[in-house]
Amino acid sequence: MFKQKKQQELREICKSRGVSLTPQRQAVMRALAARRDHPTADQLYEDLCRQMPGMSRTTVYRVLETFEKLGLVRKVDSRASKAHYDADTTLHPHLVCLNCGKVVDYQDREFGHLEPPVFTDDGFQIVDYAVTLVGFCRQCRQDPNN
Ligand SMILES: [Zn+2]
Ligand SMILES: [Zn+2]
Repeated sequence: MFKQKKQQELREICKSRGVSLTPQRQAVMRALAARRDHPTADQLYEDLCRQMPGMSRTTVYRVLETFEKLGLVRKVDSRASKAHYDADTTLHPHLVCLNCGKVVDYQDREFGHLEPPVFTDDGFQIVDYAVTLVGFCRQCRQDPNN
């Protein structure tokens, strides 16, 4: 369901923004929407290079940047050097493990769901925000050398 919905969204946005709907873009979206673990561009490349032997790492990076600009994906603020991507662009909090770098959705979607003003008193315009909770996952707490 989610995968079909994202392909549909990709088609519509490409059409309305005058961006071409290439097989590479469709493949990257399919690979990202299939995973709910907020993969990095490298992880997606691993998935894709098996299915599409012509796909390069640079292409995956570039497609993801384009998707982010088009609002099709979100980059998760993970504190890690490598960006993690989320096909679910709805506002939801993330849990980030400081040891293994794992990024998971915090299922309690009420948490951190603030209604910020459009403008602050100082005239700063708010267009987006992200809630990231950092800590240690169960596995890392049990075995910190993991
Ligand atoms: Zn961990
Ligand atoms: Zn998420």
